[in-house]
Amino acid sequence: MRATALFMPTVKEDPADAEAVSHKLMVRGGFVRQFASGIYIMLPLGWRVMQRICGVIREEMDGIGAVEMSMPTMHPADVWQATGRYESIGQEMFRLQDRGGRDMVLAMTHEEVFTWLASRELRSYRDLPQIWYQLQLKFRDEPRPKGGVLRVREFLMKDSYSFDIDEAGLDKSYEKHIGAYDRIFARCGVDIYRVESDSGFMGGAQAHEYIAPSAAGEDRIALCPSCGYAANVELARSVALPPAEAVGAAPTGEATDAPREVGTPGRRTIEEVSTYLGIAPSLLIKALVYVAGDRPVMALVRGDHSLHESKLARYLKTEVRAAQAEEVRAATGAEVGFVGPVGLPAGTGLRVVADESLRPAPVGAESPWPGPRGYAAGANKTDAHLVGVVVGRDFQPEYADLREAQEGDGCPQCGRTLIVEQGIEVGNIFKLGTKYSMPLGATVLDETGRERTMIMGSYGIGPARIAAAAVEQRSDDRGIVWPKAIAPFDVHIVQVQAKDQVQIEVAASLHDSLAAEGWEVLWDDRDERPGSKFADAELIGCPVRVTVGKGASLGMVEVEARRGGDRLEVAVGECGVLVRRLWEACE
Ligand code: ATP
Ligand code: MG
Repeated sequence: MRATALFMPTVKEDPADAEAVSHKLMVRGGFVRQFASGIYIMLPLGWRVMQRICGVIREEMDGIGAVEMSMPTMHPADVWQATGRYESIGQEMFRLQDRGGRDMVLAMTHEEVFTWLASRELRSYRDLPQIWYQLQLKFRDEPRPKGGVLRVREFLMKDSYSFDIDEAGLDKSYEKHIGAYDRIFARCGVDIYRVESDSGFMGGAQAHEYIAPSAAGEDRIALCPSCGYAANVELARSVALPPAEAVGAAPTGEATDAPREVGTPGRRTIEEVSTYLGIAPSLLIKALVYVAGDRPVMALVRGDHSLHESKLARYLKTEVRAAQAEEVRAATGAEVGFVGPVGLPAGTGLRVVADESLRPAPVGAESPWPGPRGYAAGANKTDAHLVGVVVGRDFQPEYADLREAQEGDGCPQCGRTLIVEQGIEVGNIFKLGTKYSMPLGATVLDETGRERTMIMGSYGIGPARIAAAAVEQRSDDRGIVWPKAIAPFDVHIVQVQAKDQVQIEVAASLHDSLAAEGWEVLWDDRDERPGSKFADAELIGCPVRVTVGKGASLGMVEVEARRGGDRLEVAVGECGVLVRRLWEACE
C-alpha cells in the first residue's frame, strides 16, 4: 500500500499527558488518537495491528473447537438483575433507559447474554461441550482511564464461554484455553506469566491471569525463580521475614507485663511513630479500619507490611472500603493514626482481624518473633501509642492472610526468596462453575433424563492490551519494534526521493513483486524529507525495511531488519530472498 493512500499521521511530540511508553509511541506513530477520556480512535495502522492480533486469536480459538458469534452490546437490565450484577456492580456499568423507560445497560462483559442463550438453546448433554466466543466491544466506566489503550472505557475483547456437563468437562475446557492462550501470546510476541489470580469473593474456583511484565502495568505479581510459583499479589501467599531480619537488627520492642502508654504527639504514620519511638516499623502494628457491608472491621498488619484489600474482602466474603475519619472515630473513639487493637470502646461491634504474621508463636516454640517483648500500636487516644503490646495476651484477634506479598518474602511452596514484578493483565481465565448458569436456569438433561445445571468457564483477552504490551516490551529509543506476527506491515519500502523517476519505478516493481509473494507492504512514496521518512519507518516499526535510494539507478537497494543488524545492499532481483531471510530471523 502506498503511504500517500494511507492515512498515517505521525507526530514528533509525545502527547502531554502520556506516561506509558506504549501510549507515547502509539500516538506518535499514528496508531491511535484519543477522542475523549478513555475513548480511543484506532487509526489505519492501529486497526491493522488489531486485525492481525484478532486473526491470531481467531485461529487459535477455532483450533480448540471454539465457535465465533457476535452478541449485542446493549442489554435490557433484567438478565443482569437475574444474576444480581445489576445491583452488585456499581458505577463501572453504563446504564441507560429506552424510550419506554425500560432500564438498559451497555455490555461490560457477556456472561449474562451467553448464559441466556445457552439456557434457551442447549437442551441435552449431547449438545455439550460447547465453547462459544466473540470479539466484541465492552463498555466500562473505569474510575481512572490511563496509559493510552491500556485502560479505556470502550474496548474490544475476545471473550469465550465454555459449557460442560460436569467439573471434569470444565477442567478440559480450561486446559484447552491454557493451550490456546499460550500459543496466542507466543505468536503475538508478548512475554507473559500465567499466574494464580483472585476469582472474586463469591467462589473458591480456579482463576489465572496472563500478565505481560512491563513497568506500565497496574498489576503486581509474586514470582519464585526457584520453583516457578507465580501469583498476583492480591492472592499470593508468602512467608514473612521475621521482624528482626526485616529491620536488619534485633527487635527493640520492650518486655512488659502489660502495655504501657507513651505520648506520640502528632505522630500518625508508621514512619513518624517508628522514628519518634525509635522502634523498627516491623515492631509496630498498623491498624486500618474498614467498612465491610455495614460493619466496621479493624485489619492489622505489621508496620513493614501492606494490607491487600482484596484479601480482606475475600476473608470477610464481602466488599470492603476504607472507613472515613468519622467512621473511624465512631468505631474506635480515636483519630486516624492513633487507633489500635487494645483498649477499644465496647459495643461498637468492631471485628478485629490480624494478619497471620502477627500470630504469636506456639508456646515453647523457639521464635524470632517479638513474643513477650511486644509491639507498639495505637492507643485509641489522640497523640498516644502503646508499647509492649502482646498479641494473644492483650487482645484476641481473628487471623487471616491479609498482607500483600512483597519482594524478599519466602516462597509459600519452596521457601526460597520471592520477587515481585509489575505487569499488564492481557488476559484471564476463570472457572465459573454455576455462578451464572444457576440464576439463569441454564440446564440440560443428562443421560438419565435428570436436569443438570451447566458448568461454565469464562475467558478474556484484550487485543489492544496485547498491542500495547508488545510495544512496551519491544520498543527502543527510535520507536516501536513490532513482533512480526502483529506488525501493521511486514515490509516498509522507503523511497528516498519521491520525484525520482528511477526510484519510483524500482519501488513500484518491488512493491508489486513483494505483495505478490504474500507480504503486506507499505511503500513510503510521500514527498517528505528523507530524514523524516527514515524516522517514521523506525517509529512505526515494521520488521523489514527496504530503502530505495541513489543505488536504484544501478539496480541496487538496501535491506535491513528493524530490530537491528546490518544494512545489506542487494540487487533488486535478490531483494525478495533477503526480505524473507530477515523476516524469518525476526521474532
Ligand atoms: P483489570 O483488572 O485490568 O481491570 P479485568 O479483570 O477487569 O482487568 P476482565 O473483565 O477479566 O478484566 O477482562 C478481560 C480482559 O479484557 C483483560 O484481561 C484485559 O485484557 C481486557 N480489559 C479489561 N478491562 C480493560 C480496559 N478497561 N481497557 C482495555 N482492556 C481491558
Ligand atoms: Mg477491571
